[in-house]
Amino acid sequence: MLKELIDKFYLEKQKDKEQHHFYITDAGKCGRAIFFKFKNVPREKMDARVLRMFDHGDYIQMQILNILFGLGIVRASEVNIPPHELISGRADAIVTLNNELYVVDFKSMNSLVFKNLNQPKKENVDQIQLYLHFFKISKGLLLYINKDTSELKEFLINYNPAIAQSLLRDLKILKTKIDANIVPQRIPGYPDDWQCQYCQFFEICGMTGGGEVNWEEFKKKIEKKF
Ligand code: SF4
Repeated sequence: MLKELIDKFYLEKQKDKEQHHFYITDAGKCGRAIFFKFKNVPREKMDARVLRMFDHGDYIQMQILNILFGLGIVRASEVNIPPHELISGRADAIVTLNNELYVVDFKSMNSLVFKNLNQPKKENVDQIQLYLHFFKISKGLLLYINKDTSELKEFLINYNPAIAQSLLRDLKILKTKIDANIVPQRIPGYPDDWQCQYCQFFEICGMTGGGEVNWEEFKKKIEKKF
């Protein structure tokens, strides 16, 4: 009936896309998972319920953006960073508050995660640091939204050039490994780190071993499996 049709709609939207350049959301994330995306390694599919939750999050973020538009403080929304040879990305909004520009990034989450959030998540700070770097804006706001209760929490982030440069340096090193077909080592928190818990390459990563691996040799092994 309807449920099956809706599930099918979401599942068919989900295609493995080969990645050719970095996104700002990759900053500070597991290099091995990004490597696998560049090599178009088959991913474990997400279920339709999770995909619907992402859509719900996007919808709530759009509502908040509409409110900011209503307040007349939005200078731009869905703003692409200037063209760059390594990375692309789109910030949710740039707003003016007290005559100062702020890059704003929305993040939605469930009640449990929201309740325990006392400081901004590192991966979100990394992301906004790169937006600040590319837009040459010194202040950013991370606005967290509780999807279940609509509560909000916000954190002011000041531009830190050392963080931005270090993230870009790490991505350059990762690109060298991707080009040289070297699978990067696992992140130190494997397998308990949240990235591993949600990783669509968890099974393949388990087969790869912990250290750096030659991709061409390893590929022959996984091609037999998939
Ligand atoms: S399981 Fe963890 S270490 Fe392995 S690719 Fe995924 S995020 Fe990286």
